[in-house]
Amino acid sequence: MARTVLVTGGNRGIGLAIARAFAEQGDRVAVTHRGSGAPEGLFGVQCDITDSAAVDAAFTTVEQELGPVEVVVANAGITDDTLLLRMTEEQFSRVLDTNLTGSFRVAKRASSKMLRAKWGRIIFISSVVGLYGGPGQVNYAASKAGLVGMARSITRELGSRNITANVVAPGFIDTEMTDVLSEARKAEILKAIPAGRLAAPDEVARAVTFLAGDGAAYISGAVIPVDGGLGMGH
Ligand code: NDP
Repeated sequence: MARTVLVTGGNRGIGLAIARAFAEQGDRVAVTHRGSGAPEGLFGVQCDITDSAAVDAAFTTVEQELGPVEVVVANAGITDDTLLLRMTEEQFSRVLDTNLTGSFRVAKRASSKMLRAKWGRIIFISSVVGLYGGPGQVNYAASKAGLVGMARSITRELGSRNITANVVAPGFIDTEMTDVLSEARKAEILKAIPAGRLAAPDEVARAVTFLAGDGAAYISGAVIPVDGGLGMGH
């Protein structure tokens, strides 16, 4: 059954792979962007997730064009790495405001229509770093760990209404976000990954479409790693 899907940050990277995977299986897919426009073949809405009015407007446009959002993927996210002693409060807050509060804004706006429909799928894109930690990533790890508590609380609130909330925790995926890592850091990370390689964005997308499907109706509050074994034991 075709669904209406909204992927934040679906204009590039992992979000784009997720949007394309839903589109391939015949769903009606919208992506947010911040001015780049929508990739070919996808419906785009301009939206900065740090602005609740913009999030509301984006949902309203998608609802008018494609129908109520049944599957929302809170994927948009940023890093701003530096060691704890050097991290400013502004750097901490900015990352939290995008990755954690931004996901809250999106999930909250989606949930009212899902409650009315008595069906919904909320999927948060976290990171292996949320539970594993990462040097220089106090802000990022805190934001990504927060998504686990958020999904689990939503599960307790909305679980009886056919609404699931899950977390996908990618390891190191080949996108612009990991392009900025130094070769030395990349080599160090590769040594720790049992799979011995980075993943392609599409490998994350397959976990997301699975969680959104009817076959995953009894999976909620889960953290699904897509990390080549890096975070085993979480
Ligand atoms: P990219 O840097 O390639 O893309 C980030 C996306 O987020 C872009 O679409 C960007 O939009 C969007 N975005 C950032 N800030 C905002 C905002 N305030 N409002 C709306 N959109 C915003 O990242 P990835 O594709 O690599 O990452 C996607 C998600 O996966 C992130 O949440 C990231 O933390 C997570 N992740 C990534 C991993 C990796 O190895 N790459 C590993 C684990 C998790 P714009 O184009 O306008 O800048």
